Amino acid sequence: MVALAGILALQGGFEAHERMLARLGARTRQVRLAADFEGLDGLIIPGGESTTMWKLLHEENLVEPLRAFVASKPVFGTCAGAILLASKVTHPDQEALCAMDYTAVRNAYGRQIDSRVTVLTPEPEFEDRTEPGDLEAVFIRAPILRDLGDGVTVLARYLDDPVLVEQGPYLAAAFHPELTDDPRVHSLFLGKLGHATG
Ligand code: GLN
Repeated sequence: MVALAGILALQGGFEAHERMLARLGARTRQVRLAADFEGLDGLIIPGGESTTMWKLLHEENLVEPLRAFVASKPVFGTCAGAILLASKVTHPDQEALCAMDYTAVRNAYGRQIDSRVTVLTPEPEFEDRTEPGDLEAVFIRAPILRDLGDGVTVLARYLDDPVLVEQGPYLAAAFHPELTDDPRVHSLFLGKLGHATG
């Protein structure tokens, strides 16, 4: 089955996700209106600026359609997207979709490692379901994910903090897998949509 994946395209880095999904053979649609959710198998909420994203979601009357979609389908959030999916957001406090059981502490790595490219060794739960091998991770003013609930599985860590986590139909990355050449995180997500990436 070829999945149809939506990418929230109000703001931020949606185009790189689009390219990665297309490379994996999925169909994609940029989501800007409530009607754009119709028929999607899943959704990516990209990186960007989460406060701006909320502001635009309210302005475009997309908050309720987004909440309804998130309640029914797989969703993958990267960076600002991971902040939106959290159950709680701090630094500063902000509203949340409460899809995943963790607290997102915004911009929490501080200036020194504000934005950097590093290499992570994923957890076996990741490698067993994709392919083995280290994962290049691009961090851009990333949040730290804290206070994970029991239902959250950690797929990769950076400096002991969880940076790639999964909970049922949801996946969240504090980093930007769409900005690397490694399609495994997107491939894992498309698997949740029933898309076979081979
Ligand atoms: N720092 C941003 C925020 O708080 C997220 C950064 C990103 O998405 N790359 O929303």
